[in-house]
Amino acid sequence: MKLIFEKSISGRKSSLLPACDVPEVELDAAYQRQSELPLPELCETDVSRHYTQLCQRVHGVNCGFYPLGSCTMKYNPRINEEMAALPGFTAIHPLAPKASTEGCREVYETAARYLCEISGMDGMTFQPAAGAHGEFTGVMLIKQYHVSRGDTARTKIIVPDSAHGTNPATAAMCGFEVVNIASAPNGCVDLEALKAVLGPDVAGLMLTNPNTVGIFDENILEITRLVHECGGLCYYDGANLNAVMGVVRPGDMGFDCIHMNLHKTFSTPHGGGGPGAGAVGCKEFLKKFLPKSVLMEEAGHIQVRMFEGNFLVVVRALTYLMTLGKEGVPEAAINAVLNANYLMRKIQGTFEPAFDRTCMHEFVLDLSEFKKETGVSALDVAKSLIDRGMHPPTMYFPLIVHEALMLEPTETESKQTLDEAAEIFRDLYKLAFTDPEYMHAAPHHAQIGRPDEVKAARNPILRWEQA
Ligand SMILES: *Cc1c(COP(=O)(O)O)cnc(C)c1O
Repeated sequence: MKLIFEKSISGRKSSLLPACDVPEVELDAAYQRQSELPLPELCETDVSRHYTQLCQRVHGVNCGFYPLGSCTMKYNPRINEEMAALPGFTAIHPLAPKASTEGCREVYETAARYLCEISGMDGMTFQPAAGAHGEFTGVMLIKQYHVSRGDTARTKIIVPDSAHGTNPATAAMCGFEVVNIASAPNGCVDLEALKAVLGPDVAGLMLTNPNTVGIFDENILEITRLVHECGGLCYYDGANLNAVMGVVRPGDMGFDCIHMNLHKTFSTPHGGGGPGAGAVGCKEFLKKFLPKSVLMEEAGHIQVRMFEGNFLVVVRALTYLMTLGKEGVPEAAINAVLNANYLMRKIQGTFEPAFDRTCMHEFVLDLSEFKKETGVSALDVAKSLIDRGMHPPTMYFPLIVHEALMLEPTETESKQTLDEAAEIFRDLYKLAFTDPEYMHAAPHHAQIGRPDEVKAARNPILRWEQA
């Protein structure tokens, strides 16, 4: 497919400017462009077709099943977009006087109240633009808390080996030494390993529960008690709250602060790097360290982002919460858990779960035995799923499971979709024994097959250069 620049035809236009109705002024030479601006020249149909063709080349949650574990690719109700498009929200200026931003303030305050109730926290900021940014903000609250008490000996943050990669990265960014602890054989925190590293040098623990293998850690109260006993604080990675929202509260599990990805659980479209929001909640005693906010009048120190963060993401999250209501929120969580267990059991007997027990909103398949038998890897299966119209699950994560495929069907999928997905998995399982070569070469029907992912990450070419 040609780039939009390559489709350009000199002199073609898609805009007509109105006649100038003010006196023309000649700009100083210093402000004048020295060469032509190399913008593509196309008519409106060309532009429209170009972008429509581009979006037909990607797989989104609006095209088909998208069971990307840990990322909650659920359907985003269209009413959220309608609300986020209201001129009162889109045309507001961040420096507008208080009297004209009362509506926005009410959106923030209501969303904060609901999310505090869901998470069991007392204060909230919406400034962070993503989950990782929320983690950074939350761990800085922990740091500020210790420093404010003159307790500067706490230099370590404990992170289990099953954690999302952003957790150790965050702890390091905040200037802490990362202490990794190995998981117990059931994928949960190993209490003895935890006890062994606890001490007066520990600032806190970062944890997600249910953890990244989709299992709820039943020792959670003991874990948070142990950390508190040694003077540390507990950080909850609530990027994905789909299994627990409205059912159990991280605050009641003993956590002191949390971030929630509004762009996952609370239904803002994500992927491709669109705007997000990593709302950070904290207990009363940490509220004074929250970032400064003009609208919410929190007494903070610093800001972590200009103005109030990605406001329209909060509008979408609030719309979603108000649509579901107090009964709908736990119902969505319960259905997410039901769907994950249903799909796991329908696939079982071919690909086997890494942990054969009731899962929460997601589960991990362990393909290491299957690979030994067939030579077909988790990557080959993932690539083969693309040919069947399904987005691949998360691969090779968490690191504690080898040849991992991590599936999160979400609550918005019907039984028929899950049955079809299970059938596809069972088909591919059989195919691996009869035609492994075909799977090594998959995908066969996609625009791009197997890009060099390391090169794409290390050396991305994102800009068109004029020849
Ligand atoms: C997605 C995710 C994050 C990071 O969120 P971003 O918005 O991508 O920065 C952190 N932890 C977990 C468990 C996640 O699933």
